[in-house]
Amino acid sequence: MVQMQSRFDPLFDGERTKNPLAVLKQVYGYPAFRGKQADVIARVVSGGDAVVLFPTGAGKSLCFQIPALCRDGIGIVVSPLIALMRDQVEALKQLGVRAAALNSSLTREELLDVRRAIADGALDLLYVTPERIVTPGFKDMVRNARIALFAIDEAHCVSQWGHDFRPEYRELGHLSEAYPGVPRMALTATADPHTREDIIDKLNLHSAEVFTTSFDRPNIAYEIVERDQPRQQLLRFLTRHKGSSGIVYCLSRAKVEDTAEWLNGQGIRALAYHAGMDRAVRDANQDAFLKEENLCLVATVAFGMGIDKPNVRYVAHLDLPGSVEAYYQETGRAGRDGLPSDVWMAYGMADVIQRGRMIDEGNSGDDIKRVERAKLNALLGICETPGCRRQAILAHFGEAHAGGCGNCDTCLKPVETWDGTDAAIKALAAIYRTGERFGTGHLIDVLLGNDNEKTTRFGHTDMPVFGAGKDIAAKTWQSVYRQLLAAGLVSVDHNAFGALKLEPGARAVFKREREVRFRKDRPTGAKASKNGSSRSVNAKSALEGSDMELFEALRAARTTIAKELSVPPYVVFPDTTLVAFATERPTTRAALLGISGVGQSKLERYGDAFLKVMRAHQI
Ligand code: ADP
Ligand code: ZN
Repeated sequence: MVQMQSRFDPLFDGERTKNPLAVLKQVYGYPAFRGKQADVIARVVSGGDAVVLFPTGAGKSLCFQIPALCRDGIGIVVSPLIALMRDQVEALKQLGVRAAALNSSLTREELLDVRRAIADGALDLLYVTPERIVTPGFKDMVRNARIALFAIDEAHCVSQWGHDFRPEYRELGHLSEAYPGVPRMALTATADPHTREDIIDKLNLHSAEVFTTSFDRPNIAYEIVERDQPRQQLLRFLTRHKGSSGIVYCLSRAKVEDTAEWLNGQGIRALAYHAGMDRAVRDANQDAFLKEENLCLVATVAFGMGIDKPNVRYVAHLDLPGSVEAYYQETGRAGRDGLPSDVWMAYGMADVIQRGRMIDEGNSGDDIKRVERAKLNALLGICETPGCRRQAILAHFGEAHAGGCGNCDTCLKPVETWDGTDAAIKALAAIYRTGERFGTGHLIDVLLGNDNEKTTRFGHTDMPVFGAGKDIAAKTWQSVYRQLLAAGLVSVDHNAFGALKLEPGARAVFKREREVRFRKDRPTGAKASKNGSSRSVNAKSALEGSDMELFEALRAARTTIAKELSVPPYVVFPDTTLVAFATERPTTRAALLGISGVGQSKLERYGDAFLKVMRAHQI
């Protein structure tokens, strides 16, 4: 069965090649490099510096792991999260790579082991926290060791512009003086121009070659709906994902707990995660999420950075994130393995008001607040677009996309638009006539002619605009106001309890110099979702009949092995490899090696266990 391995022994004791493509095949079992991986690797193997800006799932890890294996000495990886290190080290060990991590969670004994391994030159890769790498103690530890390269992972942490700013990262700029001649690389999935400049500047990578690729994540399907009955809407979304794991993001801790509890009551296994929880419980929930395959993790944004689980099949947002960047990063946690994944968000005007208030009440300076408001509005624009979501998102990052992606809700079910000039004029008039002092609830009452205490008290019942919008439903008026906001024709005054105000562009609409088209909101509710995108996605989507049965048997075998080794199942083999087993049904060791994801070490370790399952299912 599965053999346990002593701490740093290579599992595969054959001679390891120093050729990158051969390493890819022998160690990782992959047939070819993806995108620009080969270029990055060639650059670093030959001693050059590199900045690697690839989206999540593109395969950044290989870009530093393979050069570390091809060059003499230890590859040193700076990584901000201990959990992330642990996973990567574990996965590398399964591949037969000699890897270790240096962090505060080590026992004295373990620390001594690592020291010895460094001294003996018995390590291929060493993961270190940014705090530790700049200490004299660290320098002393590696004094006589040969260093193959430095790789700074999650390099966007160096930038104050992002939300993951880590001051310790700033010190990493000194690595070039402390270790002259050692190639350095910075890697991240955040590529906005500010962050990129900061990385080059603060990490002293002016002579590095910068590698970028498209930020599109074609396997992710985008869907954004108007919030109506959020829990029912969420439940309908989750029932499309039975049997797989995903994340549900909520804004507040209380909502995280309530939602998790409610989902459990609905028969969906859900766990909560937020920064206010007891640390042990929180860690246990995160661990369960990494290891289990049918679990919904309900979390605040405290959860996610450095979560490498490749088979997160869905990400749902019950609240609007603060920017397109945050939305893209959070949804980007789905589908790292490249298999079809769904992301879904329910939002409404209340989110916009709430987010706006958070910005206003925050303690950033006025300049930053202005940027934050613009970022929020950009996200609103994506929510309200009648066009392709992917095109709108990529355009935000400065990337051209032809649109018509066929994998977002607006492409799969095009939204109708309507000539909204008359409606816009009425909606804007209601704001103007009532003195720019009221929120949408009251404005809609005025438009509909609702004779209530508030409309009477303010004398709004006597205005010409009172009842001028009776022909349009309240829900449609809400949508009209959201779209006016997205178009920048009105803004929210957070100092006046969310009152709507007119922006300069509104004037042209009043004068009929500017035509307005609105998207028609889709009816919500069960009937709509039946017509809507209701495809079910998970790793097995591509499989049918007996292949599916075999896949389930392979998955069970994987779970057994993973439990025995106490690692997440995907560390044994990713879903993509199991899908290939189920369809190609290799029955010999040689055939097994031909499958993507099966390298020498894994063949030795679990080849026989999986072959046994496949032989038992021969047809
Ligand atoms: P990133 O760090 O860019 O988000 P990872 O390095 O975690 O991405 O890689 C994502 C997944 O793709 C991993 O499961 C990895 O093993 C796999 N992968 C990377 N490069 C290749 C390749 N050339 N061929 C096949 N799979 C690959
Ligand atoms: Zn599209």
